[in-house]
Amino acid sequence: MSKRVLITGAAGFLGSHLCDRFIAEGYKVVAMDNLITGDLKNIEHLFGKDNFTFYHHDVTTFVHVPGRLDYILHFASPASPIDYLKIPIQTLKVGSLGTHNLLGLAKEKNARILIASTSEVYGDPLVHPQSEDYYGNVNTIGPRGVYDEAKRFQESITMAYHRFHGLETRIARIFNTYGPRMRLNDGRVIPAFIGQALRGEDLTVFGDGTQTRSFCFVDDQVEGLYRLLLSDYSLPVNIGNPDEISILDFAEEIIKLTGTDQKIVFKPLPKDDPLQRQPDISRAQEILGWEPKIDRATGMAKTYDYFKNLSPEELLKSEHKDFSKHIRK
Ligand code: NAD
Ligand code: UDP
Repeated sequence: MSKRVLITGAAGFLGSHLCDRFIAEGYKVVAMDNLITGDLKNIEHLFGKDNFTFYHHDVTTFVHVPGRLDYILHFASPASPIDYLKIPIQTLKVGSLGTHNLLGLAKEKNARILIASTSEVYGDPLVHPQSEDYYGNVNTIGPRGVYDEAKRFQESITMAYHRFHGLETRIARIFNTYGPRMRLNDGRVIPAFIGQALRGEDLTVFGDGTQTRSFCFVDDQVEGLYRLLLSDYSLPVNIGNPDEISILDFAEEIIKLTGTDQKIVFKPLPKDDPLQRQPDISRAQEILGWEPKIDRATGMAKTYDYFKNLSPEELLKSEHKDFSKHIRK
């Protein structure tokens, strides 16, 4: 009998790719999302399949799923700095209350749960590259604290359910991941730069651009997450691509990739923006036999193709998503 998996945040970037992967592997997929930052268009190709069900639901309220569940992947959460700065309370709630609800559901169903943690648990790291035994450097009361601390709490409560209730848990510390279906106006650097290039605008580099990131293509990320879920390892595992680049060099790569002659303009560095980030993936290599296979040139070409083919109306929508209808006053 095929296994049944619940994926929260299913209408988002990573959640929708996970839905595709689990459907392709022959699972029954129960998808859940409140559509606050996600979009049904990311999963509309799955509607109508026998092994796919969608619940429009906010996981910060009690989560009920009828029937058996073998696995839960908890991916619901705003993920871009601009999103979580605009909806800070929702971000705190989905990482804390939402995670608590899903752990309770996992316990009730005797299901294994994987939670989407993040490199942001390392904050603005003082250790480089970041390995899982680094405790991080987070400003609890800064603007990014709503995301970072929610994710740190998420890890703590997950380990508590593991230790206290014997629940089977997995923790993925996901580093910057990109690919088709990112929201063009979510403010993250890749859709921001590509959108700017396609609209003929200048590329906005924050700070002096010497801060670094290490970008992982979504197919590699999904493979790492899939292996982690099926492993027997319950401590956190970094999943990301160690190929590190400065944001200024990356802006220049985008100008070459898009064949445009945009200028680079410098804007203030957002508060607590990490100055360096690179995953140490030795644990994933050792435990999961996993490492990324897709280099940045290949992954970015696929990503650019996706954005290039968006409708002109979507491309012109550079303003940030309006969250007002999702927010209770
Ligand atoms: P995304 O914004 O595209 O997807 C998040 C999804 O969660 C959206 O569809 C949104 O509508 C949904 N959601 C948010 N709050 C919800 C709630 N209360 N109830 C139900 N659904 C809710 O972001 P993403 O990049 O796909 O990120 C997915 C997960 O992976 C997040 O938990 C994020 O923290 C984590 N992550 C992502 C990255 C990355 O680089 N993409 C890096 C680190 C961690
Ligand atoms: N960034 C930038 N210009 C933009 C958007 C982002 O220079 O228009 C920078 C941002 O300051 C950060 C890096 O790009 O240093 C990655 O930002 P992103 O929002 O993608 O994610 P983060 O890794 O900070 O969570």
